[in-house]
Amino acid sequence: MGLFKNLSRKNIICPYCFENFTDDKAMLLCENPHCDSEKNEKLAKYNGVNIIESKHVFAQRRTFFWKKDEDGYKCNNCGIKSRTYVCPHCNNQIPENMLCKGSEIISIIGGPSSGKTTYIISLLQQLEEKATKIGLSIIIDDTGFGSKIEDERLEEIRSTASKYQKGKNDLFIEHNVVQTGKLKKHFQYPWIVCLKSLKTDKEIYLVFYDTAGEDFISSESWRDLRYIKKSKGVIVLLDTLSIPYIQNKINEFEDDNYKGEGTSNFIKTIDALSNFVINRNNRDLCKKPFSFVFSKIDVVNNHSKDLEFNTDSLKNDSSFKETGIFSLKEIDKTHEALKKYLISPKIFNSESVFAKLENLWGDNCRLFGVSSTGGPLNDIKEIAPFRVMDPLIWILHKLGGFEIPTDIKEK
Ligand SMILES: [Zn+2]
Ligand SMILES: [Zn+2]
Repeated sequence: MGLFKNLSRKNIICPYCFENFTDDKAMLLCENPHCDSEKNEKLAKYNGVNIIESKHVFAQRRTFFWKKDEDGYKCNNCGIKSRTYVCPHCNNQIPENMLCKGSEIISIIGGPSSGKTTYIISLLQQLEEKATKIGLSIIIDDTGFGSKIEDERLEEIRSTASKYQKGKNDLFIEHNVVQTGKLKKHFQYPWIVCLKSLKTDKEIYLVFYDTAGEDFISSESWRDLRYIKKSKGVIVLLDTLSIPYIQNKINEFEDDNYKGEGTSNFIKTIDALSNFVINRNNRDLCKKPFSFVFSKIDVVNNHSKDLEFNTDSLKNDSSFKETGIFSLKEIDKTHEALKKYLISPKIFNSESVFAKLENLWGDNCRLFGVSSTGGPLNDIKEIAPFRVMDPLIWILHKLGGFEIPTDIKEK
């Protein structure tokens, strides 16, 4: 069995350009600093510039199937062995593990001001601390480009591991909002994180584009659309402070911490997504688990009376952090509470929005409430992420193969 297990090609979805290829078609980038550089048209095209130089890119001469301990391939230019693999379509670097085991992707998307960057940092911090509780491990990708591609405009690109280290320091130690949108869209490279089941070895990649200030799906952006279509599951971030009733109320608060927030209406995001599904014939998307996540839910906990929100279901952090058992009851309870709140005509007459979601996704969607920080940055002593892992763990549970322990056994 073990022998035959490896005798099939692995299908790879490039996390940069979202084209498919099989593991044997991955190209190599020469690692020898003394090897000649050359114009790289594919990489230039991906980055939207005319010229980019990189080290020599060459094909594998793979005679047998993938072996992890392979010591690489000789560059046909200089003869030095290299094992830096790149996508054959866009020449961006692909983590070796992805080639070895194949790739499936979960993506995180969201409208402007939904706090995407803070969310991913908080999520990774929590996964680092607590993922093993639920039988998962995470590997934060450390493939970088800076040293291998000679173009000063790309110098700022850093591996996921170094972006995360910086972001974690900014948020958890300095209590600063993480800077986004400094780089032009084309120069942004995704965050890539591998999640692995400690029980079954199944792996999946979390891919996140840190694009600031743009409506992810309203544009004709080819990348975002492919991104969603090629994903096995999607986390959609929505801004709690953009719920009209809450937005009006926070302006009456004594509490300045929430004022001026909530600039992007979450309805826009949901509408854009449903239109993409309905009008462009992408109904297959509804067979995939979608987590609709209200960020900055701390506002509801801090002002439950003013906001007339019954916070019973949102009092405590995810119980699995202590018990190691993922509570589907807890997930459903929060889903119902948020739905009830949002369809109440007084609060926000959004029944049509939720009818849309439920009609389309049925049991494949849930509403979540999370807080990446635990409260407004000015107001809290310590960053205390609240329920940030729930949307992801729920998707893994729905996808199956990770053997997430749960409190309800589903058929
Ligand atoms: Zn690619
Ligand atoms: Zn070379």
